[in-house]
Amino acid sequence: MGILSGKIGLVMGVANDRSIAWAISEKLLSEGAELAFTHLPGPSSQRRVQNLVEQYKPKLVLPCDVQKDEDIAAVFDDIARSYGRLDLVLHSIAFAPPQELRNPYLQMSRAGWHLAMDISVYSLVAVCRAAAALMTDGGSIATISYYGGEKVFPGYNVMGVCKAALEHSVRYLAWDLGRQRIRVNAISAGPMRTLSAAGVPGFDQMREHAARKSPLGRNVEPADLANAGLYLLSDLSSGITGEVLHVDCGYNIVGL
Ligand code: NAD
Repeated sequence: MGILSGKIGLVMGVANDRSIAWAISEKLLSEGAELAFTHLPGPSSQRRVQNLVEQYKPKLVLPCDVQKDEDIAAVFDDIARSYGRLDLVLHSIAFAPPQELRNPYLQMSRAGWHLAMDISVYSLVAVCRAAAALMTDGGSIATISYYGGEKVFPGYNVMGVCKAALEHSVRYLAWDLGRQRIRVNAISAGPMRTLSAAGVPGFDQMREHAARKSPLGRNVEPADLANAGLYLLSDLSSGITGEVLHVDCGYNIVGL
């Protein structure tokens, strides 16, 4: 018996065992949650995610490109058919064209900007709307942000603009869904070496700097994010919504 026993969850954004979503998923599973997973459509993503999750025998491992309304609808239809309800959702998805991140933000193309915003920000709105219809007994939704949405990190560029929009979307979504007892929060995670992070120019310097400057004198570990994910997605955080929780070893409080 764990604190999530009997809870049904959906995790969107596991790419491999280094994904932030995977660290949080393993924690949720260890506390008794039953989870469904999505992966990017395509045989290699499917194989990678299936291999990773099969030890937990999930009922649903579904393809979903969040740019496609029909993919999102199909995921929530499947959850409705299999479980009839939903208690928690982890949205851990972002994308920006890597070639665009290598240029100054000033040079950002219209198409690249729309693509990054669509996948990294609008997807949360679409997912919250679909999830809310199944959260008949309240629920909790969490997404993953970065401090580059508050301050300028050269190279993070359009992703920083996306994270600013994501964090403010969290607040508006928390308002819209609050009376249905659905909470929406974000974790602002310190830098972690993942597939997505590999596309951010200067990422290793960001990590070194964060470890040097942060009060805890280290970078975040998967367990730090897993614990925070459990907190936000369970009743442990029952009175908290619209919040951006920094899980960054304190990096954001230091002014030098
Ligand atoms: P990751 O590459 O493991 O995860 C990113 C996920 O986004 C992948 O599973 C990928 O399949 C998914 N995705 C991309 N485009 C998609 C689409 N069109 N439809 C559906 N899914 C799509 O990397 P991660 O670092 O675990 O990233 C997860 C989240 O954490 C992202 O929002 C990222 O911005 C955020 N974040 C990461 C760090 C870090 O340092 N790694 C720090 C702060 C925040």
